Amino acid sequence: MATCKGCGDEVDALVSVKVDGKTRKLCEDCADRAREEGEIQEASEAVVQNMMGFKGRR
Ligand SMILES: [Zn+2]
Repeated sequence: MATCKGCGDEVDALVSVKVDGKTRKLCEDCADRAREEGEIQEASEAVVQNMMGFKGRR
């Protein structure tokens, strides 16, 4: 068993997610939320890349 750093729940397996450039181990619920927040960051990065005439990976 492991404890999620996000919500404190005990889960069988933690998921490694990158949040603000740091890898955090979270349960799936928190990982999903972190990914959603991460997508917002990726989106703003993509805007900057487009401004530089740079096509993103998606
Ligand atoms: Zn959690």
